[in-house]
Amino acid sequence: MRFFVPSHRGLHLLVPTNVLGMSTSAHLPAGTPGASAGAARTGGTVTDRLVGANHQYASGFEDPGMDARPVLQVAVVACMDARLDLHDALGLALGDCHTIRNAGGVVTDDVIRSLTISQRALGTRSVVLIHHTNCGLESLTEEFRHELEMEVGQRPAWAVEAFRDVDQDVRQSMQRIRTSPFLPHRDDIRGFVFDVKTGLLREIDPAG
Ligand SMILES: [Zn+2]
Repeated sequence: MRFFVPSHRGLHLLVPTNVLGMSTSAHLPAGTPGASAGAARTGGTVTDRLVGANHQYASGFEDPGMDARPVLQVAVVACMDARLDLHDALGLALGDCHTIRNAGGVVTDDVIRSLTISQRALGTRSVVLIHHTNCGLESLTEEFRHELEMEVGQRPAWAVEAFRDVDQDVRQSMQRIRTSPFLPHRDDIRGFVFDVKTGLLREIDPAG
């Protein structure tokens, strides 16, 4: 995932042509790389394209009659990177799991919130963490927050959670889940790095 990069003109959202931004209803600024690629294919905005695809999806959709509780009783926490297709990469089907994604697949308080609901209200028992090679967070530092403050006059309350060593970051993420008092099920937590070039997962030893 490559997202914000500082430049002399400030911070710009870089969106590869095959990737949707975090806010699908937002119009990308003119001149943003990839901003017009989707629209050029359809004559509408990228959201128009998504809505069109949904009509097609719904036309063949039959109510699967599923319960909200994930069939495999697993929650997957992963980076939002567009190259990571969790369902295909892990052989998951509709209804199998919870997927919780953010920039980096970082275990933030909000991820703990989702995991707590996942385990306590919706019956999941296992957690799978997935970071990946070539993550955008490897090229950022906490200086990013300072740059934001300089540009907009307000320092974000959140940490960037940038990292240099992806293996260590997976270990830290596993540790944050293991030490959360809110989660009743902490004995099946495994962490992996997904290789965006080979599609393979590499498991991380929590002990290092
Ligand atoms: Zn990433």
